[in-house]
Amino acid sequence: MRGVVMYGPGDVRVEERETPTIVEPTDAIIRLAATCICGSDLWPWRGADDVDATPMGHEYAGVVTAIGDDVKNVRVGDFVVGSFFASDNTCEICRAGYQSRCVHGEPGAPTGAQAEFARIPLADGTLVATPGQPDADLIPSLLAASDVLGTGWFAAVAAEVGPGKTVAVVGDGAVGLLGVLAAKQLGAERIIAMSRHADRQALAREFGATDIVEERGDDGVTRIKELTDGLGAHSVIEAVGTQESMMQAIRSTRPGGHVGYVGVSHDVELPGQELFFSGVHLHGGPAPVRRFLPDLIQLIWNREIDPGKVFDLTLPLADAAEGYRAMDERRAIKVLLTVD
Ligand SMILES: [Zn+2]
Repeated sequence: MRGVVMYGPGDVRVEERETPTIVEPTDAIIRLAATCICGSDLWPWRGADDVDATPMGHEYAGVVTAIGDDVKNVRVGDFVVGSFFASDNTCEICRAGYQSRCVHGEPGAPTGAQAEFARIPLADGTLVATPGQPDADLIPSLLAASDVLGTGWFAAVAAEVGPGKTVAVVGDGAVGLLGVLAAKQLGAERIIAMSRHADRQALAREFGATDIVEERGDDGVTRIKELTDGLGAHSVIEAVGTQESMMQAIRSTRPGGHVGYVGVSHDVELPGQELFFSGVHLHGGPAPVRRFLPDLIQLIWNREIDPGKVFDLTLPLADAAEGYRAMDERRAIKVLLTVD
């Protein structure tokens, strides 16, 4: 099969690789319907994370082609969606809704999901079958559910988004934009998207943003305060993971409000005294996408949401390197790779 391998910063290659097979009796093998590049794949592309001939990709949706002897919940031929963390979905942490920290957790697609096939561990707990074979136009949205939608949704839930609330979203990548969509679905009254890119602002508005703030850092905080009677937002979604974005999120939140942070943290250090006096709730981390997958799949299946709109560039798998470049240079919000 063909699959994407990263050798170092800026060095992505599509190579002929061994097709994965069942290793553990709890595994499943899927044939990807399509795959995609994640904003978090840009960290190693930019040299912020180490790679060494690393198979890439952790977002996946596709058809089960083989199952191990112990797999009971999915069958060969099922169309399935899973998360970037495999989870048994039965341990105490999973049952509490934190499948991304499952006590038996492991990477969701250890063979790499930017490929024609992937091995999925703990298939019974990890994979959720769709009600039937999806129409082709639903595949981008189902793929989005695997990570960026589930992550944006968790951020909104962690930020306690709900009716009557004002929500601010820091970050206009796919996760931030789908945080806007989630906030709308969860009943937020006002949704402020922080973005300085016209195409992303337009998609944010389409997903439900009522206001756009172009300023960032302390200027962005000042604008959020101006829009909220000087108080700050009730709920703030942080979807970047830098020192600036995290402080922007905390300072944009009113006392007693909630920050849901899902940007993968890189060298963030929180000043203790400022945090102490902020009176703000912080909740986040790697999103337990599995918690939300059944509901998200149903919303997509019923065509109530269309998160696949975050894919604004589609390329064949063979052109994955161009996809990485396009996202790195912000020419694309999110790149879908076709595997046919
Ligand atoms: Zn578990």
